[in-house]
Amino acid sequence: MTKSYTSLSEIKNEIAIGKVTVEKLVKSYLGNIASNAHLNAFNEVFENEALSRSVEIDARIKSGTAGKLAGMVIGIKDNICYKGHKISASSKILKDFTSVYSSTIVERLLAEDAIIIGRCNCDEFAMGAANETSFFGPVKNYADQTRVSGGSSGGSAVAVQADMCHAAIGTDTGGSVRQPASFCGLIGLKPTYGRISRHGIIAYASSFDQVGPITRSVEDAALLLEVMAGPDEYDSTVASVAVPAFSSEIKKTGPKKIAYLQEAISSPGVDSEVKNTLITYIDKLRAEGHTVKPIAFDYLDYLVPTYYVLAMAEASSNLSRYDGVHYGYRSPAATDLVSTYKRSRSEGFGKEVKRRIMLGTFVLSAGYYDAYFAKAQKVRRLIREKTDEILQEYDFILIPTAPEPAFPIGRQEKDPVVTYLSDIFTVQASLTGAPAISLPAGNNSKGLPLGLQLLTKHFEEQELLNFSKYFLEL
Ligand code: GLN
Repeated sequence: MTKSYTSLSEIKNEIAIGKVTVEKLVKSYLGNIASNAHLNAFNEVFENEALSRSVEIDARIKSGTAGKLAGMVIGIKDNICYKGHKISASSKILKDFTSVYSSTIVERLLAEDAIIIGRCNCDEFAMGAANETSFFGPVKNYADQTRVSGGSSGGSAVAVQADMCHAAIGTDTGGSVRQPASFCGLIGLKPTYGRISRHGIIAYASSFDQVGPITRSVEDAALLLEVMAGPDEYDSTVASVAVPAFSSEIKKTGPKKIAYLQEAISSPGVDSEVKNTLITYIDKLRAEGHTVKPIAFDYLDYLVPTYYVLAMAEASSNLSRYDGVHYGYRSPAATDLVSTYKRSRSEGFGKEVKRRIMLGTFVLSAGYYDAYFAKAQKVRRLIREKTDEILQEYDFILIPTAPEPAFPIGRQEKDPVVTYLSDIFTVQASLTGAPAISLPAGNNSKGLPLGLQLLTKHFEEQELLNFSKYFLEL
């Protein structure tokens, strides 16, 4: 087994001096995938393809014609289309579906010579925060196999954590890149909404969904962001703002003004070791000359309900296309059109997805629309305005990524709302569209990784990455 690399530049240096080849790397990752199959991180491994591509890329590196990502072997979440490859969103309803085109991000990653080694397990249709709603079963955390990986991009995070690939791509609707990254001791970046094309990503909640990298270094997050970002004629929500060369612009910047959420420290719902980690970092930042102040966020209690009303409403609409007719699973017991719809959807979707379709349909229905959906949209606007106001005064908001570390697999919450509440710190960036990053902040007393999160203004990913690099060196 080759050693584990923190950044692509380390890999490139070793390739340059002949210490390693892309082919050797791929073989080593494949070895780790095989020996860690019990972690359940991959829904499918593209073994032969990755091997043959590695030989081509080694040749391109030798001839000096290789792209920016040559030597980077990645996993992609199983909701990202890759032409000619299966894609399931970890759902029975799409179990045997093959992508007929590639997502824009896959095309861009391949054009820069990344190697895609497989598709990673995730929560069904990205709905969950523990990777336990997957039709293919939960993903186990490499730090403690009795615990969850986090979710919904749990397979992507564990694939990197256990060195089954160098980096991975996830999607983040309400925290699904950041929270599993924090549970696995990695970096998870959710860019500004509109920074990266969603073309070819299976939609969950379209006004929230964003693609993001899970990496071991800030440089790799920056590099993957710059390759994937930017306008796309297939997704009109992508902003036409310039895409900086994020990875080459990373530099140390001067003293910053940072706000942290008072409730993250005072609330009984936050694990004490998470609180202590936050306090330790606040002290370190102050000692380094930054201004760090507590703030109260009046809408804190509204974050989770607003997110879930809107995300479920959008999900109920997006998932109406899985009807047993267009594509995907069709119930063999169906006898006519209506029973095709009913049976295919009843048998094809899992429990959590059904719950969300029903709740989403309810909040959109005549008679309840104004009370729930329209109201939630108004609250979303207030949350955005208040967040923007804070970010006018401060450079960053610092909060935990999750209120607790990875929890045991199978922990049964009687009330799904308890599970939803665990998204309290990640949904603010999702509701406002702001960029946010989860950074590893050490382990707790049981050796479980903890993560802290930084949020900043729209399209200021460069500042976020600069400060993240510095933050990790504190
Ligand atoms: N846990 C959140 C949810 O279940 C976020 C999931 C995500 O970001 N895809 O909706």
